[in-house]
Amino acid sequence: MIRVRFAPSPTGMFHVGGARSALFNWALAEQSGGTFVLRIEDTDAARNRPEWTEGIISALAWIGINGDSPFFEGPYFQSAYEEQHREAVAKLVAGGRAYYCTCTRDEVKARTGSEHKGYDGFCRDRGLTEGAVRFRTPDDGVTVVQDLVRGTVEFPNEAMEDFVVARADGSPLFVLANVVDDIEMRISHVVRAEEHLSNTPKQQLLWEALGVAPPIWAHVPVIVNDKRQKLSKRRDKVALESYREEGYLAEAMVNYLMLLGWGPGDDREIMPWAEMVPLFDLGSVNPSPAFFDEKKLRAFNGEYIRALPLDTFVARCEPWLDPSWDRGTFAKVAELAQTRIAVLSEITANVDFLFLDEPVFDQASWDKAMKNAAVEILTGYLARLEKVNMDSESLKSALEEVGAEHGLKLGKAQAPVRVAVTGRTVGLPLFESIEALGRERSMDRIRAALARLQG
Ligand code: GLU
Repeated sequence: MIRVRFAPSPTGMFHVGGARSALFNWALAEQSGGTFVLRIEDTDAARNRPEWTEGIISALAWIGINGDSPFFEGPYFQSAYEEQHREAVAKLVAGGRAYYCTCTRDEVKARTGSEHKGYDGFCRDRGLTEGAVRFRTPDDGVTVVQDLVRGTVEFPNEAMEDFVVARADGSPLFVLANVVDDIEMRISHVVRAEEHLSNTPKQQLLWEALGVAPPIWAHVPVIVNDKRQKLSKRRDKVALESYREEGYLAEAMVNYLMLLGWGPGDDREIMPWAEMVPLFDLGSVNPSPAFFDEKKLRAFNGEYIRALPLDTFVARCEPWLDPSWDRGTFAKVAELAQTRIAVLSEITANVDFLFLDEPVFDQASWDKAMKNAAVEILTGYLARLEKVNMDSESLKSALEEVGAEHGLKLGKAQAPVRVAVTGRTVGLPLFESIEALGRERSMDRIRAALARLQG
């Protein structure tokens, strides 16, 4: 029975890399009819905050990982397992696999002559009964980690110091608590970020010392930016929440995250979750760094937006529409907007001109459009607008005529009219926009632009 877990520490905004690890685990649980355990590793009291925990839970729910699914278990909180952690430490000491140590960092340094040599084993056989607890690592040989993504990875034991598993106050270190919880929760596969590979030989030794066969390991590749640097919260946009707020669709985000290190093996990239799940395979995850390409994610999102049924699209836009904006008017242009935006937040700037008393003028657009024959075009079109039929075809021919009178093709003639009416040089198709805005309001705007130009 496959039991996987996702074990985030609530020390900051939920990272896209964490979301990718969670999804890989989720796919494994779903495809095998197994269980996905959510464990919040909240033992670092100084760095944990309850709002980070809530953020993790809500971000996971957004990408479909939540208690509505039969294979979801938890959330469990690591802090609730303190007794088990202490018992495990006691068991290691009783079995001679760990020992108390009272050495300070300075004492170790004075003996070894270096800060980097690690612990020298001074307390190994002193038979102390208090202090920090260190695990007695093997003196020679290798610890062999079988990793589904990385193959066989060998760690010479000589290079592994007797590491601390509990502090002098009895509190466990991550390396131990994480193992004890995994044992307690009967985890079969540990699928997590590459940065934990270096902990793995120590943890495998702990599993064995605690008398339990180690899990199957899989360390999924680090995620990098366009400069091949590891994504970092100080430099890159890493919070899943910020993508959600910008109007990325959860489906697109899930699809894109799944491709960071994995692919279905054919040329297909846009693929719904349900089709990815049966194909997902840890053995085909690529160990090299995965590039988080925001441009590509945007393109994915645009595709997902365009694929939505119109009424779903309209509903999804709701958070970005001011409550005062008339939804009937919005419905008239929604279909045009759907093909033009890549993230939902862009809907606001595409349609606000319909609802505001006057458009928001983008100065660069204004400067670009309001030159050459702008006054003549606006004056000529204003006159036509008085009697033209208010359908996009007629509105277009009318502007073509005005343009022709001044030797301008439609494209050039459109610019001043578009900026006068919508405030910007790019946006929804112009004539449909004028149709939706109506004769009077469109004329008022052209008059206002003329006044601005001439005054
Ligand atoms: N709490 C650890 C982290 O957030 C997870 C360790 C693990 O997955 O084993 O990095």
